[in-house]
Amino acid sequence: MGDVVLRNVEKSFGSTKVIHGVDIEIKHGEFAVFVGPSGCGKSTLLRLVAGLEEITGGDLHIGGNRVNDVPPAKRGIAMVFQSYALYPHMTVRENMGFALKLARRPEDERQRMVEQAAKILQIEPLLERKPKDLSGGQRQRVAIGRAIVRKPEVFLFDEPLSNLDASLRVQMRIELTKLHEELGATMIYVTHDQVEAMTMADKIVVLNAGRVEQIGAPLDLYHHPENLFVARFIGSPN
Ligand code: ADP
Ligand code: MG
Repeated sequence: MGDVVLRNVEKSFGSTKVIHGVDIEIKHGEFAVFVGPSGCGKSTLLRLVAGLEEITGGDLHIGGNRVNDVPPAKRGIAMVFQSYALYPHMTVRENMGFALKLARRPEDERQRMVEQAAKILQIEPLLERKPKDLSGGQRQRVAIGRAIVRKPEVFLFDEPLSNLDASLRVQMRIELTKLHEELGATMIYVTHDQVEAMTMADKIVVLNAGRVEQIGAPLDLYHHPENLFVARFIGSPN
């Protein structure tokens, strides 16, 4: 199952500690949003969960297993970045199927999984195109599609919509929320945008300077901020 639990997690780069004893529990199927100002450690925290950075203190559990030393490919996660790095020489179909090809899945199974994901994201008509012939929003959908085909238990998103224009961003928020309902997977979504956090999250984790300020449902944080930072950041009138 896709529970994600951080216990007293720390991260230092050399002698500089950037994550200070973070405790977070995300239940299977939850949509959690990590929100906080630029430089507070959101991306670092996500990269620790993904296994792209090594934890320097504490424990990380995914699906009940301690994964501190488990390589990224074996953690049952897929990550979608803000800069959707699609392979330019491959079609959408090839981009989406690439990870499955590396995993040596048979051709017919690969095509079935790619087409299923394309249907969910409504990009079936784009499957034979190259990335250069897609709009920003279409490219971001393909990047999400690449994550879906691997059927991970946990999706990690690092500001996936920040390169899109405002109206597309609103539309993609709604689509991602729908996608979450359809897949029933755990999602951890990083953003510096309070509105995104408030509209998408089951659970918001407010971060500041490498520490958790508060964790709660959007309306909890809005009506009962535990300190001035949360009140100011979430924008409640208290
Ligand atoms: P956010 O995603 O919230 O903007 P980051 O997680 O990128 O914040 O960065 C948190 C802090 O960690 C920042 O002070 C940043 O400079 C530092 N940091 C991030 N990655 C590295 C790295 N590879 N080496 C040294 N410091 C880093
Ligand atoms: Mg970041």
